[in-house]
Amino acid sequence: MKMKQAQFDLIKAQLTRLAAGSGFYADKLAGIDVSAIQSQEDFEKLPFTWKGDLREAYPLGLQAVPDEDIVRIHSSSGTTGTPVIIPYTRQDVEDWAVMFERCYRMAGITPLDRIHVTPGYGLWTAGIGFQNGAERLGAMVIPMGPGNTDKQLRMMVDLKSTVLCATSSYALLLAEEIARRGIGDQIHLRKGVIGSERWGEKMRRRIADELGVQLYDIYGLTEIYGPGIGMSCEHECGIHMWDDYIYFEVVNPKTGAVVPDGEIGELVITTLRKQGAPLIRYRTHDLTRILPGECACGSPYPRIDTILGRTDDMVKVKGVNIFPSQIDEMLRDIPGASSEYQVMIDHLNGKDICTLFVETAPGANLYALEMEIGDAFKQKIGITAVIKPVALGDLPRSEKKSTRVFDNRY
Ligand code: ZN
Repeated sequence: MKMKQAQFDLIKAQLTRLAAGSGFYADKLAGIDVSAIQSQEDFEKLPFTWKGDLREAYPLGLQAVPDEDIVRIHSSSGTTGTPVIIPYTRQDVEDWAVMFERCYRMAGITPLDRIHVTPGYGLWTAGIGFQNGAERLGAMVIPMGPGNTDKQLRMMVDLKSTVLCATSSYALLLAEEIARRGIGDQIHLRKGVIGSERWGEKMRRRIADELGVQLYDIYGLTEIYGPGIGMSCEHECGIHMWDDYIYFEVVNPKTGAVVPDGEIGELVITTLRKQGAPLIRYRTHDLTRILPGECACGSPYPRIDTILGRTDDMVKVKGVNIFPSQIDEMLRDIPGASSEYQVMIDHLNGKDICTLFVETAPGANLYALEMEIGDAFKQKIGITAVIKPVALGDLPRSEKKSTRVFDNRY
């Protein structure tokens, strides 16, 4: 994709400012002549920024403006090692809300909607981002945060929530609970805004059917504002990205070379306007591709495909690369198999063993299903797997992103 002149100008001004300052990017850009960067090709030679770099800058090494300009911080979850702290200026908070409002509008959400926010509040960027965008839009926010299903459903019924904001796994949990309690006719939801976790078509269909809503994918990550830097439209063909705030590239995860439009690789993002903690060529680890051409909705914002997985979810078994999205796709076509599964990779007696646990519909013929899924796995993924059908609801649901592939070999 060609970099626009306005994007180049913003990037160039940002690089000049960062190189002349002190701190994280002054160090990273040391030895690079920023004035010699004259084109997209020159830009593509700049070094990447990795999550590990951000961890090393803990706590406030990323801060690129004086203390008096910082109004807030957020932090990515520190479940694996040191957390990453992102400082925001007042303008950053404002820009994020502007983008988020745009997301809601893209989904046809209006000031008359009642937006039920289940992502968490606090250090994590999610809840407050959904809230600020909704208030800017003028809709009524119901700031639930996660957990307490009884209270969630009570508020949803009594306040007549029309929009559910959730991760896909939490939306599924709520949908199942609504079905179990038989209160579907008291639910007024019409749209779901689902966080950018990779999720399969089958899971999407189940949530949409059980809740009776149209679903939209919202994209984002804590390191770059949070959720809200891109949104799918009613045509459900990828995610429109707000390219007046971010510049994005898709690169080969191994070599780092920019791949042609349409080819799958890792999404790399450069912020165009961020003040508190600008990022240059940040490796997101999200696998996707640039979708060429215009969208039927007529939006001028370019699209990426829905997230196909994480570079760290990609596992190599018996010489074959497996992405979770391939398994989603395979299960989609098998009646009796649910959207919920887990893959375990083990190393036993000198051999890699791949085991697929799949939830099944009640009353399914488990033996026949095991055979059918086994054949499909061999045919579509390319290796043999041990198939273990389990009952609906047996695999864990989570309020955050769910892990589906467990590599126990190392
Ligand atoms: Zn569109």
